[in-house]
Amino acid sequence: MMLILTRAGIAETLNHFRDAGQRNSECVVLWLGKRVGERLEVTEYYRPIQIAKADRFRIPPEGMAELQAKLRAGRLMVAAQIHSHPHEAFHSEADDTWAIVRHEGAFSLVVPRFAADTTLDNFLDHTKVFQFSQRSTWDEVPNWQVKDKCVRIT
Ligand SMILES: [Zn+2]
Repeated sequence: MMLILTRAGIAETLNHFRDAGQRNSECVVLWLGKRVGERLEVTEYYRPIQIAKADRFRIPPEGMAELQAKLRAGRLMVAAQIHSHPHEAFHSEADDTWAIVRHEGAFSLVVPRFAADTTLDNFLDHTKVFQFSQRSTWDEVPNWQVKDKCVRIT
């Protein structure tokens, strides 16, 4: 599956991360869109209601309810989730537990250093991409494969 993103959408996502980072907090953004063949076309870069700290986040029941209503109304799906970390980008145990998307092939992206030094141009180099496997593990996708097969920025 190929995620189709816009530069404006990535910029919006990074702005959310930097805002939260100023409060020393992680942030999660959900990329919503539609599946068209093998493409996941992202149309909304949505910051759900969340409870976040310096090293974790979760979406409370009212956030999940609002998300579900939004998905129904727009006939959208969660194409991927992306969140920020204070330091290194990795998939923590809490991330495994609280992942919103967990179907086979689902994408979860992590941006380091609260996106302080992440730009549109280095976004794919800074960000780590994980994919949910058949064995129910989050496996890191190598950077070349991300650029080649998983993400297209329009
Ligand atoms: Zn995390």
